[in-house]
Amino acid sequence: MNIPEPTLGNPQGTIAVINKYKFVFQKKFGQNFLIDPRVLDKIIRSAGITKEDYVIEIGPGIGTMTQYLAAAAREVTAIEIDKTLIPILEDTLAGYENVTVLNEDALKVDLCRLAEEKNGGRPVKVVANLPYYITTPIIMGLFENRVPLESVTVMVQKEVADRMKTGPGSKDYGALSLAVQYYARPELIANVPPNCFLPRPRVGSAVIRLECHKKPPVQADDEKLMFRMIRASFNQRRKTLVNGLCNAGGFGFSKEEAAAVLEEMGLPPGIRGEALNLEQFADLSNRLGKRGDFGKEGT
Ligand code: SAM
Repeated sequence: MNIPEPTLGNPQGTIAVINKYKFVFQKKFGQNFLIDPRVLDKIIRSAGITKEDYVIEIGPGIGTMTQYLAAAAREVTAIEIDKTLIPILEDTLAGYENVTVLNEDALKVDLCRLAEEKNGGRPVKVVANLPYYITTPIIMGLFENRVPLESVTVMVQKEVADRMKTGPGSKDYGALSLAVQYYARPELIANVPPNCFLPRPRVGSAVIRLECHKKPPVQADDEKLMFRMIRASFNQRRKTLVNGLCNAGGFGFSKEEAAAVLEEMGLPPGIRGEALNLEQFADLSNRLGKRGDFGKEGT
């Protein structure tokens, strides 16, 4: 297969396409297109794309990164919600025979089925300059829906990248950090300033690579319960862990039982949830799971 060299990814190429199609940027879709070839190269290199790989791209825009992905991968599926971009993609991706564009909301596409059909169910690589308004649902959807994943290399808001990779003791630490780290090993690849995009976003951005674990790094007997406890303790960040859990309700154990479990774990009774690492949350939910009555409320 003869794959053309990328033509987009610089300000001139992008502006020419925008003008040719009189494309109007839609804020509601988080449209900030990449116009820096060095950033694109860095994303492709850090994602470690090879000719063996099947890649899913979320939000191709005018097809800038798609061209780079198509040149590096075996096959690419690009999912774009904005129908006004579809004729543009047909033009910019003409000749890239290994690319399929789906005009869909990425949150509604059955990615497990896509991985099955296109990659025989083997782990896929997801690469995207994400629309920032749905970063968390997209990433959590990939993990929670058990899409077979090798890695997820994405451009996100800088602050979100910080939240994904941090641990206890940082103000950025929260439910997202723990969820991401349960499923993957995050690595910050690069900080990317607003002038690498058209139009410029108001926030700084960063490329983060999530190398997916083959097996979770901790043993949680009931994953859903552990994540409910994590959410309950971060919903009330300023409260102690015991109060956070008991105020959330529905767990079926008393304050005394929760305090006793903390003591068993060698933790002070007044500790806050934000001081616990992933291993401690797994341990806590395993111990409390044996005491509570979880039939009362759906997980
Ligand atoms: N990949 C292009 C680039 O790097 O230049 C565009 C990235 S832009 C930040 C995000 C893209 O995601 C836009 O093209 C936007 O229309 C698309 N998008 C927004 N919400 C989406 C959704 N729910 N499903 C699929 N695509 C979406």
